[in-house]
Amino acid sequence: MSRPFAVLLAAVYFGISATPVFAQVQTTEVLTDAQLAEATTRPVRIRETTPEFAGVFNQVGEFAKKYGPENVLLVVDLDNTLLAMNQDLGSDQWFSWQEALQNSNPTHPELVAADFGGLLEIQGILFALSRMHPPEPGLPDVVEDLVTRKITTVVLTSRGKEFRDAAERELKRNKYNISPSTLEIHEKRGVFSPYSAEHPGKHGLSAEIIDDLGSPRRVTYSEGIYMTAGQHKGYMLKTLLSRSTKASADKPLAHFKAIVFVDDHQKHVDRMHEAFAGDFIDLATFRYSREDENVEKFNKSTKRHVIREWELLNGFIKTVLVK
Ligand SMILES: [Mg+2]
Repeated sequence: MSRPFAVLLAAVYFGISATPVFAQVQTTEVLTDAQLAEATTRPVRIRETTPEFAGVFNQVGEFAKKYGPENVLLVVDLDNTLLAMNQDLGSDQWFSWQEALQNSNPTHPELVAADFGGLLEIQGILFALSRMHPPEPGLPDVVEDLVTRKITTVVLTSRGKEFRDAAERELKRNKYNISPSTLEIHEKRGVFSPYSAEHPGKHGLSAEIIDDLGSPRRVTYSEGIYMTAGQHKGYMLKTLLSRSTKASADKPLAHFKAIVFVDDHQKHVDRMHEAFAGDFIDLATFRYSREDENVEKFNKSTKRHVIREWELLNGFIKTVLVK
């Protein structure tokens, strides 16, 4: 999205002075008494798929008009949502391919590592060396507009804590800056265990859910970037919200009245709906499909290019760095 288009959208949805030549089509419906009663007793649930972040922006604006910007939470994924890898090697789709191959055929000759730990180590090397870009031109400007309008914003990624440096570097290089309007939490340490079986209910999750999830892996939250090491994104968000400085025992979702969640994976979208199914909070999810074509092209390819690229890079690493 171009900068002028982002500004125009902002003008429409946040009421700043500009000529509103872009406006949503409004339909006027008269609700029956039963529909009216249901509308006021059931929270909004919206599921959309979009290749345009403008839809997300519009929805945040809708909720902001309804509840006030301070009561709206925007949660955005990192890989293939805010940023996409400049090459296939080390991309989200490359990692998924390697992970699936390890599970289906642990001795496959195209595997870069013998186990998951080894794959993560190589992913770390590739994150450290690679550059990324926003899937849509102008996306950092759109996010900045939301941050400027005090929409609380959190980046929620499945990446583990060991990849924080590379994530922060690429977000900064691409001019994303959400820290002025992100969620403040009580947890003083950057690294923490998201929940504990010994203290069910303390961090927003019931004993039953904790039992289902199993042992937690450690996560980090800092600069508005929440790194959750492949854990259930919906429940990870709940544990984060329960740590908010504005949350309390009877208000584990803090003051928020609406959440907008954006992620390229259907699995994470589904999990967000699962986690908040019983909560009285509006939820709009967007499966962000902007990178779908690139992912599909990679999945259908022979993968020879990434195999060759890794052989070359690994050859240099072995020759130069490991004696
Ligand atoms: Mg993603």
